[in-house]
Amino acid sequence: MSYIDNLECTICHKKYVDKSLHTCPTCGEKGILEINYNYNQIKKVFSKARLLENTSRNIFRYLPLLPLNEEPKDTLEVGWTPLYHSKNIGNILHMPLLFLKDEGVNPTASLKDRASVIACLKAKEEGYKIISCSSTGNAASSLAGNAAKLGLSSIIFVPKRAPLGKLSQLLAYGANVIKIDGDYKDTFEASKIVIDQFNLYNRNAAINPNLVEGKKTVALEIAEQHHFSQIDNVIVSVGDGCTIYGVYKGFYDLKQLGFIKNIPRIIGVQAEGCDPFYQAWVNDEKIKETEENTIADSIAVGIPRNPIKGLKAVTSSNGFFITVTDKEILDASYLLSKNEGIFAEPAGAASFAGLLKAVKENKINKTDKTVVIITGNGLKDASSLKNTVSDTLNITKEKLFNRISKKNKNTNIQNLEEIMDCIQNNEVKEHE
Ligand SMILES: *Cc1c(COP(=O)(O)O)cnc(C)c1O
Ligand SMILES: [Zn+2]
Repeated sequence: MSYIDNLECTICHKKYVDKSLHTCPTCGEKGILEINYNYNQIKKVFSKARLLENTSRNIFRYLPLLPLNEEPKDTLEVGWTPLYHSKNIGNILHMPLLFLKDEGVNPTASLKDRASVIACLKAKEEGYKIISCSSTGNAASSLAGNAAKLGLSSIIFVPKRAPLGKLSQLLAYGANVIKIDGDYKDTFEASKIVIDQFNLYNRNAAINPNLVEGKKTVALEIAEQHHFSQIDNVIVSVGDGCTIYGVYKGFYDLKQLGFIKNIPRIIGVQAEGCDPFYQAWVNDEKIKETEENTIADSIAVGIPRNPIKGLKAVTSSNGFFITVTDKEILDASYLLSKNEGIFAEPAGAASFAGLLKAVKENKINKTDKTVVIITGNGLKDASSLKNTVSDTLNITKEKLFNRISKKNKNTNIQNLEEIMDCIQNNEVKEHE
């Protein structure tokens, strides 16, 4: 059974007991609902002591805080991703308490699995056979993978710019893919028409309130991995605004339950080429449509579908929004992979680029305990990232033998630069 009290409209604040609602019947599509729990009931079955005994290493260790009626089974193993103490970059930045949450190791390689697995389970609970969404890429591949595991069919809408890695992924998972010749805004509208017409289960994250509940498990894990001690800042990239609100909601739940004293400052990072949340926050105005002009395709969302919740995450936690350029994102991604062994797609590294900028601008204290969420794996969009690194040496085996054999075997070459110099060997060029 679930511990949901009611669903509350984020616009008119009317409360509903019908838990299958996705949006407010009065306010329509913009009336996104908030799921309210009965924390007193949850306290009876969920405690720090019980968590210690819980052996499940996936998001379902937090089952009382999830909107599910039935015991989940046969799912992919979603969540319980590593939280690394970032010692190498921490040293460079003089930040002794810097941590990285690597969401790229989820089953389909992004944070979206946390939401997709909940969507698939809800669809099954409610008797749907087909589930659908529009997506910049990761929600799509994630939905396709989780649906495949749970025996659901999927119809998925992606914009024409979706990178090859993500597209191959969702085709491999057997999704029925419709590529819209347009941007994400067009893709979203297209999916809406089909979902309404054929009454498919709607996984569009902003519309379906259950998905934020899945995404919040990333915060539950971060808190538990820190033994519920004080965390000062959590940084995440922002597209539609569901992920950042999920982060807020997870900490909010834990505060209601008395597991933590304070919600960390939540910091949202957007790309300079697509920054509607940043603009609204900086200018203290309503969210306005922007272009979708960034390499970070997962956060290229010109009309965020979850504006109220996305802004609330930052304002209620005393956080801030910050923007980064595509170059800053690519440089940050390389710094991250080179120093910490975490290969992130552009949107996944945007959060880290935001950290670098916020530290430079003294918006974050270097002694703070700070967690950066790396939302997606670099293999999904390897071609974008390739351009940031230097070209590889291209050479035939014979030429390489020739170069090496010209060297005296006894020269005591020990360091990396000398070895690479010898292999790339410019002085024998004229003999080639
Ligand atoms: C979806 C996504 C985001 C942003 O999440 P929103 O809910 O759209 O704000 C960030 N990074 C990656 C890799 C994503 O796939
Ligand atoms: Zn309403």
